[in-house]
Amino acid sequence: MAQAQQKTKPEDTEVWEPIPKVVTAKNVVVEPPSDAVILFDGKNLNEWVTTEDRNKPAQWTVANNVLTVKKNAGNIETKRAFKNYQLHIEWQIPAGISGTGQGRGNSGIFLASIGKGDAGYELQVLDSYNNKTYVNGMAGSIYKQFAPLANPTRKPGEWQSYDVIWTAPEFNTDGSVKSAARVTVMFNGVLVQNDITLKGPTQYIGEPGYRQQHGAAPIKLQAHGDPSEPISFRNIWIREL
Ligand code: MG
Repeated sequence: MAQAQQKTKPEDTEVWEPIPKVVTAKNVVVEPPSDAVILFDGKNLNEWVTTEDRNKPAQWTVANNVLTVKKNAGNIETKRAFKNYQLHIEWQIPAGISGTGQGRGNSGIFLASIGKGDAGYELQVLDSYNNKTYVNGMAGSIYKQFAPLANPTRKPGEWQSYDVIWTAPEFNTDGSVKSAARVTVMFNGVLVQNDITLKGPTQYIGEPGYRQQHGAAPIKLQAHGDPSEPISFRNIWIREL
């Protein structure tokens, strides 16, 4: 192929430093309060569907009160749509995880799913315990936008928690942004995103921007294509604000 124009590459939007300081933290288990909507309580996937075909039940594995990613079944997302909310979710990288960088326990929580595949706003899930990668792609990052303020990642095999406060973006009738999305994230009880303003949905290549008007949206979990062992989730609940 002729050299037409300079191609934008995924590496162009990777940031490698400063490296967030390592903080030792415990998993924070918060049992759902009385007004929470339970998205996963260990029993079934009744609240979830397959992203690629929302008429199809979610196909991931439920066993021993834990939900485990089934990579070849694709992403899953909630039946319900949400706007502004508080979310609690716990996740575990399997002990003995293999791989390096982005190919080591990669999953993600799309705080608003705005289409098939990985369309949406991704809070990254990854093994970031002694695993170097670009800092805006670590666990606790808003992928390719904001590195975490600290790295409280626990060892593979240990449970970890995210507590998220999400303010959805709002759009004017002409599609322009009225107010951008905002998010605060606690990772194992440590503040890693402090009311940041998102630049738009997650963009793997190129600069993010608000190019798609949307309202309330499902929450999506990522079946990432890397070959490392699949990760697990438990105790997922949400409070609408
Ligand atoms: Mg991911």
